[in-house]
Amino acid sequence: MKLILLGAPGAGKGTQAEFIMKKAGIPSISTGNLLRAAVKAGTPLGLQAKSAMDAGKLVPDEVVIGMVKERLAEPDCGKGCIFDGFPRTVKQAEALDAITTIDCALLIDVPDAVIEERMTGRRVCLACGATFHVAANPPKQEGACDKCGAPLSIRPDDKAEVVKDRLATYHEQTEPLIDYYRGKGKLKTVNGQGTVDEISGLVAKALGL
Ligand code: AMP
Repeated sequence: MKLILLGAPGAGKGTQAEFIMKKAGIPSISTGNLLRAAVKAGTPLGLQAKSAMDAGKLVPDEVVIGMVKERLAEPDCGKGCIFDGFPRTVKQAEALDAITTIDCALLIDVPDAVIEERMTGRRVCLACGATFHVAANPPKQEGACDKCGAPLSIRPDDKAEVVKDRLATYHEQTEPLIDYYRGKGKLKTVNGQGTVDEISGLVAKALGL
């Protein structure tokens, strides 16, 4: 199964990607995580991406498309994969269609006001990429990752003023993908408001997992 998770930043794509990954046994490709790893490692790609990411803007299409192509060639993607945060523009979607066939684009639908409240409470593990939320999905031990024990951080782009810019970028550049995949008969939608378990239940039902 090749699946795209669509939705605003903070809609819960990363959390549901982890759920689907376990349930379906396929890896998740998060372009945000790949880019953050490149920034942390100080690679030329990371240096190129950092300023756009810090400002809540998109990294150039060619950079992201190249990164995804490389990742897709790895053997663990043989049975399928989940795209989390990719594609984010119609150009990226067209590039993806040229490389592989997508089975489904699943939209996790959450209104902007809820997103803003959520993102400012988000905590991430920079070591393994796991995500938590101080209210909705707290780690067992405050400030520490459940999976690997590393300290949790607030992403610089989860600060309130950057969140507004990221939402504007989403509406302008990524939302057109909803019509793009609807037009291909591949769009499914779940309501992204509720507890993590409730939303996972809706996701499982929508995907027949
Ligand atoms: P995310 O973790 O998916 O919210 O991504 C964090 C940031 O990485 C975004 O705000 C963008 O600056 C950049 N980014 C992630 N995925 C993409 C993509 N597919 N295209 C362009 N920029 C991206």
